[in-house]
Amino acid sequence: MNLEPQKVLIADDDPISRQVLADLLKPEYTVLLAKNGEQALERAQRHAPDLVLLDVMMPDMDGYEVLRRLRADPQTAHITVIFVSGLNRPEDEANGLKLGAADYIAKPYNATVVMARVALHLQLVRQRRMLERLANVDGLTELANRRRFDELYAVEWQRAQRNGRPLSLALLDIDAFKQYNDHYGHPAGDRALRAVARASSAGLRRPADLAARYGGEEIVLLLPDTDALQARHVLDGILAAIAELQLPHAASGVSAWLTASVGGATLGGNGAETAAELFEAADVQLYRAKHGGRNRIVWRGMD
Ligand code: GH3
Ligand code: MG
Ligand code: MG
Repeated sequence: MNLEPQKVLIADDDPISRQVLADLLKPEYTVLLAKNGEQALERAQRHAPDLVLLDVMMPDMDGYEVLRRLRADPQTAHITVIFVSGLNRPEDEANGLKLGAADYIAKPYNATVVMARVALHLQLVRQRRMLERLANVDGLTELANRRRFDELYAVEWQRAQRNGRPLSLALLDIDAFKQYNDHYGHPAGDRALRAVARASSAGLRRPADLAARYGGEEIVLLLPDTDALQARHVLDGILAAIAELQLPHAASGVSAWLTASVGGATLGGNGAETAAELFEAADVQLYRAKHGGRNRIVWRGMD
């Protein structure tokens, strides 16, 4: 679990108000400061704070507008915002909450209460992150899980269709892994699987590339905007990295070391294939790689 100090951004045009809050929070959190709305948006984008304490009345861009713009940008849309304001009528508070702030602190405030509220919201942020992680990350390998893959695959497939761009998909399956477990034991199998997972994600080159645990000892690689030749090259690198691990596999029958087989297929820019068909095609190639002797890559249309 990530126990680094959480980041709080304080956005207030009044230097004294800013300083008072900063002094209060600095002992426990990493504090970032912004003196106007523009700066608040820039800092939020750049530093991804866990929480923003946002003044409502600021010249040029007020807090309401800052909140609206944070929500409009996918990168900052989920950041928790608390309004801190001298507008202390119940209507002001209700309005702030209606706009999507998590809380509303009216000035003058009590420092202890502010600290307690900040701590509460940061605790909620931490819990939400943990749940997101549990929902999306495979516990053993730390790769994205099947659920996350399905989600991103649908998005990337649509994007590729829309933009007429290639999309490559590869299935990597460890060879003779049942024998590995039988010979070295299940805990050793788990360690090997983790090492293969690390080698797979380390072999990716672009932020949009994804390695996910599809199931068992099978890893799926999703390479947006990557043609068959480039994708094959990436997978060559990953198989080479797995070979370099030199994990002894005396019972393999394929090699002295642990190896894997890969089946791949690339969606052309012409949009003739559904996501399920592309996946099925990669799976067929994996089957061919296994039957062709394992420890190899078979890519649709490239033999
Ligand atoms: P092939 O070369 O045809 O892929 O043969 P294989 O033995 O790898 O394939 P098979 O599908 O017969 O067996 C897969 C094995 O992977 C069986 C299962 O126990 C093992 N396995 C699946 N998930 C895990 C895991 O999380 N940890 C460990 N240690 N083993 C796993
Ligand atoms: Mg296998
Ligand atoms: Mg398998």
